[in-house]
Amino acid sequence: MTDPRSPDPARLSLNTATIRKQWGLGEAIAGCARHGIRAIAPWRDQLQALGVSEAVSRIRDQGLRVSSLCRGGFFTADDALNLDDNRLAVDEAAAIGAECLVLVVGGLVEGTRDLADARRRVADGIAALGDHARAQAVRLAIEPLHPMYAADRGCINTLRQALDLCERLGPDVGVAIDTYHVWWDPELEVQIARAGAAGRILAYHVCDWLQPTEDLLADRGMPGDGVIELRRLRGMVEAAGYDGCCEIEIFSEKNWWRRDPDEVLRVCVERYASAV
Ligand code: ZN
Repeated sequence: MTDPRSPDPARLSLNTATIRKQWGLGEAIAGCARHGIRAIAPWRDQLQALGVSEAVSRIRDQGLRVSSLCRGGFFTADDALNLDDNRLAVDEAAAIGAECLVLVVGGLVEGTRDLADARRRVADGIAALGDHARAQAVRLAIEPLHPMYAADRGCINTLRQALDLCERLGPDVGVAIDTYHVWWDPELEVQIARAGAAGRILAYHVCDWLQPTEDLLADRGMPGDGVIELRRLRGMVEAAGYDGCCEIEIFSEKNWWRRDPDEVLRVCVERYASAV
């Protein structure tokens, strides 16, 4: 596949994880406005800290698109499938006009080794959340996570597995494709095409895989600093018909979370144009 054209600047979205150590949501909204970023993807803790109605009004004042809300899920956290908190997440996503609610589904039930049981619970949990999400017109986006997180964060680990689950759950459910989690998958192109053909690509998250990676969670790279063929991956997603936002989402304890957040946003804008 040849490199696609440079991405549309209007479709860059700041996932607020990228500057979460420096800024709250209010500062992130203002930062997007200063840097010409037209979309944002808040995390729920930051949304709750600012207050949902205050966030709604600030997002509206800046005319920002809300590409997703991060995140619901963790269905394996308790016997009630974490449904109370997940319903609240749906309500929050609806209130801020998020285009989807990203689900990080949860790993093994604590104290067990039963991965099949964890996966069954995840399927049950998403199915149980479905009516509430449909009633609020919130689409649920399953984010397959890199298999290194299967025990503690997410037991859905490939796009194929997520799409198989979507097919059992119905047309409203889709996937959040995150380059960090799926770049290694030999089936990636086929499964992205499958997701697109079914209208199930609800979000696209971008960061880079650093070589070496020093921390399993918080050593993700700025686009262009790692080994993922990001431009090729975006080409696959767009060829599959996805025309939504591209969220830059970086967890970076030792680097980007320690920098001046205005510098981080400046670099995000540059790298979006040159490396995504
Ligand atoms: Zn992600």
